[in-house]
Amino acid sequence: MKNKVITVTSPLLPPLEQFIPYLEQIWASKQLTNNGQFHQQLEVALATYLGVEHLSLFANGTLALITALQALHVQGEVITTPYSFVATAHALLWNRLTPVFVDVDEDTFNLDPAAVEAAITPRTTAIMPVHCYGRACDVEALKAVADRHGLKLIYDAAHAFGVKDDAGGSILRHGDLSVLSLHATKVFNTFEGGAIISPDAATKQHIDHLRNFGFTDEVTVVTPGINGKMSEINAAFGMLQLQHIDAALQRRQEVDGLYRELLADVPGLRLKVRQKGSNYSYFPVLVGDDYPLTRDGLYQRLRDQQIHARRYFYPLITEMGPYREMSDLREPPWPRAQKIASQVVCLPIYPDLAAEDVARIVAIVREGALVNRVRKVS
Ligand SMILES: *Cc1c(COP(=O)(O)O)cnc(C)c1O
Repeated sequence: MKNKVITVTSPLLPPLEQFIPYLEQIWASKQLTNNGQFHQQLEVALATYLGVEHLSLFANGTLALITALQALHVQGEVITTPYSFVATAHALLWNRLTPVFVDVDEDTFNLDPAAVEAAITPRTTAIMPVHCYGRACDVEALKAVADRHGLKLIYDAAHAFGVKDDAGGSILRHGDLSVLSLHATKVFNTFEGGAIISPDAATKQHIDHLRNFGFTDEVTVVTPGINGKMSEINAAFGMLQLQHIDAALQRRQEVDGLYRELLADVPGLRLKVRQKGSNYSYFPVLVGDDYPLTRDGLYQRLRDQQIHARRYFYPLITEMGPYREMSDLREPPWPRAQKIASQVVCLPIYPDLAAEDVARIVAIVREGALVNRVRKVS
């Protein structure tokens, strides 16, 4: 079909028949959740795959973020980014914490360590950066700021499955805790799911207790925990996904490479510099002033031809509901984030996005570059 809808992402989903044997095992065991066989297997297999030691699975990434903040007894103000998915900030409000939004770096779109340091007050207890689009934050600089001021450092690593740091180790080993999302739209999914990566066994154990109502054994509750457990169905699916993830990441890299090749010479578009150790989870493009169409003009043109690109992350978190009232929008102290949010569009990228579909998307973007340039059109 010529004009089929192409969405910004499409979930990694192995052939159904491969999943049936897993379901048969669950039915045979009658253990549906509470640290069953697949849950145990996936915690070990994922940690091994990612190159980390202590990983706790969760029902989703948001519960994992909320629990991570609980585990570290974070209070008062937490410095975070306005340029993220809204769950980053929601996790703070659910812990009755005050989000303090500061600006991002214009190249990485991640928290600017200098801006973080400038925003520290006596009430600040933690920093919650996001590895946006799976691009690693400046982990050394952020650690230096956190150490200088005695702050906790909790990474929202929802986008960062499989991402490596400069030394080739997992990006998830940084910070006091790192939190993954395994949601359907992410690079590696368990339908819904999440994980916390801890630095040591004692922290993991505490988090595992928090995840299961605070139970340490059948009759003992040590803390007011939540139900954040991942079910056996999700964990079993994760075990199957692990067999396909390397091929999926390889395909993402190819799609990313194809876009870069085909879009390199389009005037007015800014692509992000490719980072070593990336997972190619998103393909953000900045629509500059010298491209004839506005960002929304390009977005609509794509939409009109069934290409559902997305404006992640627009609007900024600080322009949404509860956060709007907290921030002074007349002179927001995050001009770089605002500019990026006004220019960004994420093009479709996923493992089975065909080369001819990439070509179709690129053709629309190139046509847009040929529009009469007398005046910006939207
Ligand atoms: C997806 C996402 C989350 C939330 O994860 P869920 O698993 O959907 O709850 C949090 N932060 C960021 C940056 C995300 O992209």
